[in-house]
Amino acid sequence: MADKIKVIVVGAGGRMGREVVKLVLQDEELELVAAVNRSEAGTDAGKLVGLEPCGILVMDQLEKALSQTDADVMVDFTTPQYAYEHTSLAISHGVRPVMGTTGFTTEQITELDKQCQKQGIGGLIAPNFSIGAILMMKFAAQAAKYLPNLEIIEYHGDQKLDAPSGTAVKTAEMIAENRKEIRQGNPKEEETIEGSRGGYYNGFRIHSVRLPGVFAQQEVIFGDFGQTLKIRHDSYERAGYMPGVKIGIQKVMEYTGMVYGFDHFID
Ligand code: NAD
Repeated sequence: MADKIKVIVVGAGGRMGREVVKLVLQDEELELVAAVNRSEAGTDAGKLVGLEPCGILVMDQLEKALSQTDADVMVDFTTPQYAYEHTSLAISHGVRPVMGTTGFTTEQITELDKQCQKQGIGGLIAPNFSIGAILMMKFAAQAAKYLPNLEIIEYHGDQKLDAPSGTAVKTAEMIAENRKEIRQGNPKEEETIEGSRGGYYNGFRIHSVRLPGVFAQQEVIFGDFGQTLKIRHDSYERAGYMPGVKIGIQKVMEYTGMVYGFDHFID
């Protein structure tokens, strides 16, 4: 059997991180070599996620985990504030980053690609690991060729830090590749309450709904004379992202450079 891929999970105590720890501990092709979280230091990572103890104790410093293990891949679900720093740190240790954390700028992604190329390793920044969500983005980008008037509405829980969501930004970018900038709506339109029309991107609008009780949904609405088309994806639980995370961990071992978007792995 091929060697197991050695994985560090950062944000291991978080909602997504716990699912990743479970995935890595339960998958025969993966091996957990470190779990990092700001709190919970010293707790057994298996116990942390409700499984049998695994002998890996949660660390509170990513730097320590990177220098004290021979990890192949770092999976990070922390917070946009640390996304760039963690990615760059992993690359500097020759560890391939698989970033679920959102909030990267285009300049940062370009810079991280350079760092990966220099180290000769792969990296992945995936604003959404859900295969259904990726298909929603691809279908939306395709529809925009024929129905260029559209708006994006994304829905997330009220504690989400960044807006619009990484998925909405990525969708907008994919749509913009298939559609010239068209400033939609009435040119004389005025907002009587600031922000009513949402964020402006490439001539269309993005609306971010933040409510308790909501998990993650996105709708792309296309309008044309006498018709609308709605392409909608609903995520109900975090486990739904894990098949994508596993594919990401495997793929990142196979190429050099930073890939932005899980869509690159779905034809
Ligand atoms: P969460 O708040 O439940 O978990 C974040 C965890 O990271 C916490 O346990 C926190 O202690 C830890 N953390 C924060 N800063 C840290 C640091 N510097 N070092 C170590 N640990 C640190 O959040 P969540 O719901 O799990 O989401 C995490 C991120 O993943 C967010 O950016 C979210 O938008 C993103 N997300 C991405 C996808 C995707 O498919 N790519 C899906 C869901 C969420």
